[in-house]
Amino acid sequence: MEVSSIIAPLNDQQRLAVSAPSQAMLVLAGAGSGKTRVLVHRIAWHIKINHISPYHILAVTFTNKAANEMRGRIEDLLNTSARSMWIGTFHGLAHRLLRQHAKQAKLPETFQVMDSDDQLRIVKRLIKNLNLDDSKWPPKQAQWFINAQKDEGVRARHMQDSGDFYLRQMRQIYLAYEELCDRSGLVDFAELLLRAHELLRDNADLLSFYRERFQQVHVDEFQDTNTIQYAWLRLLTEGNNNLFVVGDDDQSIYGWRGAKIENIYAFQKHYPQHGVIRLEQNYRSSGHILKAANTLIANNDNRMGKELWTDAGDGHALALYSAFNEQDEAYFVVEKIRQWVRDGGLRSETAILYRSNAQSRQFEERLMATATPYRVYGGLRFFERMEIKNALAYLRLSSNPHDDASFERVVNTPTRGIGAKTLDDMRILARQQQLSLWQAAQAMLEQNQLPARAANALRGFMNLVLELGRATQNSSLHETVKHVVEASGLIELYKKEKQDKGEARVENLEELVNAARLFDYDRENAENLSELDMFLAHAALEAGEMQGEADEDCVQLMTLHSAKGLEFKLVFLVGMEEGLFPSQQALDDPGRLQEERRLCYVGITRAMQQLYLTHAESRRLYGKDSYPRASRFLRELPQESIQEIRLRANVTRPSAAAPSASATLGGSTFKLGQTVRHEKFGEGVVLQTEGEGDQERVQINFRNAGLKWLMLAYAKLEKV
Ligand code: ATP
Ligand code: MG
Repeated sequence: MEVSSIIAPLNDQQRLAVSAPSQAMLVLAGAGSGKTRVLVHRIAWHIKINHISPYHILAVTFTNKAANEMRGRIEDLLNTSARSMWIGTFHGLAHRLLRQHAKQAKLPETFQVMDSDDQLRIVKRLIKNLNLDDSKWPPKQAQWFINAQKDEGVRARHMQDSGDFYLRQMRQIYLAYEELCDRSGLVDFAELLLRAHELLRDNADLLSFYRERFQQVHVDEFQDTNTIQYAWLRLLTEGNNNLFVVGDDDQSIYGWRGAKIENIYAFQKHYPQHGVIRLEQNYRSSGHILKAANTLIANNDNRMGKELWTDAGDGHALALYSAFNEQDEAYFVVEKIRQWVRDGGLRSETAILYRSNAQSRQFEERLMATATPYRVYGGLRFFERMEIKNALAYLRLSSNPHDDASFERVVNTPTRGIGAKTLDDMRILARQQQLSLWQAAQAMLEQNQLPARAANALRGFMNLVLELGRATQNSSLHETVKHVVEASGLIELYKKEKQDKGEARVENLEELVNAARLFDYDRENAENLSELDMFLAHAALEAGEMQGEADEDCVQLMTLHSAKGLEFKLVFLVGMEEGLFPSQQALDDPGRLQEERRLCYVGITRAMQQLYLTHAESRRLYGKDSYPRASRFLRELPQESIQEIRLRANVTRPSAAAPSASATLGGSTFKLGQTVRHEKFGEGVVLQTEGEGDQERVQINFRNAGLKWLMLAYAKLEKV
């Protein structure tokens, strides 16, 4: 009976994969063909049928969300807990290893994970320290360079001096960066992976321990592993032939971040005794959607080549909507979602997918205006908001005062009269004597080098950090966080900030306290870490998963990249415009264009029942207006599977519900979509009108003031 619960819900190919003898195995198959399902059932099979303890199983997924779901599904299949199984993202697992073996990894016990913002801040400072002109040596580029080297497993000291001036300089920045991170106990994302690899490579005992422990190793989305991730997997599985990977070359979308599609070929070479299984039936999407995906991706070359089929029937055609601007687009999408809900659907079955985070705002505004609960994944993530990062920096310092990135961040936030000169002197001293900023500050105070005012201010700050550290010792996590946001002066600072913004920041800080209260401290897997340190690591690694009420029925908003592996009944692929999707950088780079096409393939194949494609004829993004052409990807789709919702010539108003297409006042007509100016609210776009004569009202989306209904007779609107 147990066997049948694992095997029954699978097709023949899937069964072959799940029940194969222990061996290296590659499941290569298109979207929605059940790869993830196979992985889950394979693990259940090992546990139930092969009697392998969950303790001996390792599984790598792409997001923490996927990891949690996977664990849940396995537990459901087995009816027991799989807590002792290691399952997570590459970064999460690497972090866990480094925590457990900090000493062997040559890291201080209190090392902190920093996100890419913190990393950039440090790189900026180093470039300044090295007296380099940051217009010639843009910090972002240096950051990218460093990460790319790490993804390839290359340390600064490994880089050969080829005499190339650019590389020599980059190497110098990289060297200085490594030194500073070591001194401050800071670890960036790429470092997590590199160091976890070095840890196993250089410690034979540990390596053999983990090789013995992880008897079965599983990887989802294998096509997006980079060099160092694959090297790490090889270390763990070499000789054991126990690596089970599933992937789809057509869904490789992280080439720009170092992912190597070639790992699929390398796998076949490195594990000569491997099996390959292909899955061809798609269970996710109806016929038109699948056909669109197949037709689009056929435009790429160098594919491993696979065709998906479904027996689900054609279903709905894809729907294409040409909006006249981005607000109309948002309006349209949200109305369709509301209709879906009115018809009995769930909000969580719907997703708005976009190419770039900045696109989310329009949709968020419209969702808010209609009181539709939604959740944004990624983007301006909770833990990335300025006020949250400031609070976290105080928390980090309270745990490790040598954390330079945090020190820099809050030494003068709120302002406490520590001048630029004092800070510069401190940085110089730190650099010259290889000290952390904290130590440099101590030295300067001891040597009485500072004017009294600056010295007092600095002492005040350091005492505050020490006090926060002490307060942490005996209180619960949320009390600590509450104490820190108050004692640091942050709450007070934002209360003074004007209007809504400050209020929202205070609310976010309160939400942080709340997040701390709800934080699930997994003592068993804490590797001797305090609850605070676990929380901080969580904030760096799992950003974005705290937003909204987890169990509320919400519309899902995310970038195409973060939609990988997920599925929704109703999907909107928005902003289908040249320069946005495909992105500007891809327009004259054939390699990147193909990656964008794969991204579009990923987007289309998220949809189960209905897929809407939208583009806008004019768009304001990053403060600029543009009149983009429709995306080439739209032309590449099979036209017979697409239904245009409305001819462009007929576009008069954004909503069928809006009663009139234009409003008149004193002989002037406001067309929907028209930009107007209001004395107080500034510029905005007319969205809809209602009522007549004196009662005529107009709804405007003001760029700064948001959505407003105004009485036309009083509004004094000017056309722009
Ligand atoms: P992606 O490439 O997008 O990650 P995938 O190949 O991992 O997709 P899954 O997410 O595992 O595909 O499966 C897609 C959908 O099809 C899921 O809803 C899954 O439950 C369903 N499914 C998979 N195999 C079967 C099957 N044999 N019978 C019925 N439903 C199936
Ligand atoms: Mg999957």
